[in-house]
Amino acid sequence: MEFDYDLFVIGGGSGGVRAARVAAGEAGAKVGLAEESRYGGTCVIRGCVPKKLMVFASEYGETAKDAQAYGWKMMAGGFDWPTFRDKLEAELDRLEGVYRNLLANSGVETFDMRARIADPHTVELSDGTRKTAKHILLALGGWPVKPDLPGAELAITSNEIFHLDKLPKRLLIVGGGYVACEFAGIMNGLGVQTTQYYRGAQILRGFDEEARGLVSEEMMQSGVDLHLGTNVLEMKQVEDGIWVKGTNGSERVFDQVMFATGRAPNTTDMGLEDVGVKLGRRGEIEVDEFSQTSVPSIYAIGDVTGRVELTPVAIREGMAFVETVFKGNPTPVDHELIPTAIFTQPEIGTVGLSEEDARDQEPIEVYCTSFKPMQQAFAGRSDRVLMKLVVSQKTRKVLGCHIVAPGAGEMIQMAGIAIKMGATKEDFDRTVAVHPTMSEEMVTMRQPVRTA
Ligand code: NDP
Repeated sequence: MEFDYDLFVIGGGSGGVRAARVAAGEAGAKVGLAEESRYGGTCVIRGCVPKKLMVFASEYGETAKDAQAYGWKMMAGGFDWPTFRDKLEAELDRLEGVYRNLLANSGVETFDMRARIADPHTVELSDGTRKTAKHILLALGGWPVKPDLPGAELAITSNEIFHLDKLPKRLLIVGGGYVACEFAGIMNGLGVQTTQYYRGAQILRGFDEEARGLVSEEMMQSGVDLHLGTNVLEMKQVEDGIWVKGTNGSERVFDQVMFATGRAPNTTDMGLEDVGVKLGRRGEIEVDEFSQTSVPSIYAIGDVTGRVELTPVAIREGMAFVETVFKGNPTPVDHELIPTAIFTQPEIGTVGLSEEDARDQEPIEVYCTSFKPMQQAFAGRSDRVLMKLVVSQKTRKVLGCHIVAPGAGEMIQMAGIAIKMGATKEDFDRTVAVHPTMSEEMVTMRQPVRTA
């Protein structure tokens, strides 16, 4: 049977764009791609990239104060949100242009509209035209969800936070995951009175407990009004803002409320169930290790599959899909030992098992140090950092590495290579320290602080 395309991709985010351009550019496939919103997807348009720029923006206030402590005569304060926001929006336009060019230069034909599945080899575009393809790749991404409670419509999500007309004076952030904690730090750094409600006992569930504990302490120390074990019951518009009733009995008024209560896969009204694509309990597309769905001609990658919701993982899944389907080299995606950073203030860099998970698995040794780093201590700040290795007693392999420190994301990328290669504690010990740095502590910790 003749198809219009060898591959039709739905979704122009990081994963979809990479798969489309590699299939077209390297494997010579005829590729079409439909995107209903902006090219670049969550990461480039409403996630990682603008978020990281906001983290940078929010850190300059403290940097300016530190500079004063180091003897610089300079003024701190006076952040102008519209100046930054307009520059940010221009940067996102530029990046979207880069993505469009990448696709055009690899020969991918793009359609700026919504597409849905009509049958296992056909997509229907929102203008009614139908395109057939030998393979269809769903790179549909996810979308923030708000809890179902009275007044929830008054709140924004991370989608809107980048485009505010003005910064609120009083902001409430609800949630304790990546997005909530990163934005609590950002907004606090930008001078917004930031309150955070998290329903659980400690933020960042699932990460190493010691690391979470330190981040939460440092966030509070730097001014975030964090309330653990607290959720929103009800919200109402009042004259001077949004009235919020909390599960802790509090009634407070905020100028803005942001829900960062998780994301849901974009699988609604896509025609998936009608053609037999199996969805999981949360609406995620079920796939095998080659990203193939229950319909053999349809594959799915990235956040919509609910595996690991991280840009570099979606990109790898896209590359593995092209290897498997277009290069005759079946390639499963390796989801083991993924290093990741949470851009809280201070940052967390982490790879492998938390102490708690490792302990449940086998006997371990824990090497850990927490100290005041030189640069901040000199400026009179009391910030602490944490360096931690979780080591298998039997194999001596480093099972987990957890860093809480400025620049932890940069450090964990490097540590991630060693740990992925199976480095043992003794390999770390054999490595000469780089002095004076924070990360030198990673190779100078001699005695375990505990065994378990
Ligand atoms: P997460 O799943 O990380 O966190 C959601 C948070 O909301 C949790 O604290 C959860 O609580 C809480 N929550 C869920 N439902 C409710 C509710 N009904 N009421 C109150 N609280 C609720 O989602 P995020 O949106 O923060 O991030 C989504 C994913 O995006 C992340 O998992 C990550 O993979 C990715 N991401 C990665 C980043 C990075 O690499 N730096 C940055 C941002 C996002 P509980 O813990 O109790 O379930």
